[in-house]
Amino acid sequence: MPVLDIDKIRRDFPNLATRGRDDKPIIYFDNAATTFKPCQVIASTHSHYCHRTANIHRGVHYLSEEATAEYESSREKVRDFLGTRNTFEIIFTKGSTESINLVAASYGRRFIKQGDEVIISEMEHHSNIVPWQLLREETGCVLKVIPFNDEGELILEEYRKLLSPRTKLVSIVHVSNSLGTVNPVKDIIRLAHAAGALALVDAAQSVSHAPIDVKDLDCDFLVFSGHKLYGPTGVGVLYGKEKLLESMPPYQGGGDMILSVTFEKTIFNRLPYKFEAGTPNIAGVISLGEAISYVNNLDAGQLIAYKKELLAHGHKVLSQVPGLRMIGTAKEKAPIFSFVIEGIHAHDIGTLVDREGVAIRTGHHCTQPVMKHFGIPGTARASLAFYNTKEELDIFAAALNKSIKVFHD
Ligand code: PMP
Repeated sequence: MPVLDIDKIRRDFPNLATRGRDDKPIIYFDNAATTFKPCQVIASTHSHYCHRTANIHRGVHYLSEEATAEYESSREKVRDFLGTRNTFEIIFTKGSTESINLVAASYGRRFIKQGDEVIISEMEHHSNIVPWQLLREETGCVLKVIPFNDEGELILEEYRKLLSPRTKLVSIVHVSNSLGTVNPVKDIIRLAHAAGALALVDAAQSVSHAPIDVKDLDCDFLVFSGHKLYGPTGVGVLYGKEKLLESMPPYQGGGDMILSVTFEKTIFNRLPYKFEAGTPNIAGVISLGEAISYVNNLDAGQLIAYKKELLAHGHKVLSQVPGLRMIGTAKEKAPIFSFVIEGIHAHDIGTLVDREGVAIRTGHHCTQPVMKHFGIPGTARASLAFYNTKEELDIFAAALNKSIKVFHD
């Protein structure tokens, strides 16, 4: 099998050439927070504002038609990328957070009643916890939580016990941003459906991990953010099955989501526009389409194999760092390394390796229940993308060793 040309890929990402503190080359290991963007994506944003600035859907003039065509062609790219049946099922939002809030506010308020149950897991990002708590406050529904074991794997026997005839929705993260665990979402969805519940997949991290096929997963909703898929910030996606989206009330009211308005009555627009009130992030949506084209041009099998190599190498070199304890050692993992080092606060680790040019994240990663599980305030987290290398991991391990020495001297 031909190998990925990582050097060529790296040249597509101008940010990889940025120099960091003390003019050191930057090693960017904060990809779970946001990824760098290839020049094709940056050029697309630039080109939109230079040559195609116009509002969409409403204009009869040339620029508006062009911008509308590009915007809608992005929707087609997302449809193809997720393997959905049609473009009505693709709603553009600000990101994963807004997509989950949309489902909680629209589906939740209409269909989830007092005593109904929503199941999430102990490893959810706050954006898949808080919207359901807000719904609980409003409706009196019950929130149940699937626990995970000390490796960071969901305990499926406990999940089976939580399912009941009152379960309305199971909302679950596909790849944990703080543990790296890849959850068996297909099984989780199958069990939810068998109990008569719907299933939402938070694909914020998984969308860049491996190809997603919503028809195969059979999830009812799926969310992701453009900026974690080498695209721009401020744009994301909600996929929902057409019948469900049809049954849901609008999330926000305003322009573009209506067919007609009188003071007596408003008739809502058809899908997907019913859920896209106001002027959207036009340049962002178009550039997200470009990011998808970029990823589609790479060989998915090779990317998966390469990330597995990075994962194995990372675990090997980090296991040799004295006092380092990995948080999240699931059998199925993405190359996300969350860890603590005995006697050193995670923030100090982050600050010390930053001096060596390595950008990592420290803290609770918006998953405080995960930290509570392990009885720690936070972790240091290195999260890798396909443009990272084993050499960078070696430099990182050396930077950690040096930092430990500096700290103890
Ligand atoms: N879910 C997961 C698993 C995430 O990692 C993140 C972002 N860290 C989110 C949801 C929220 O994404 P956004 O901030 O782009 O809305």
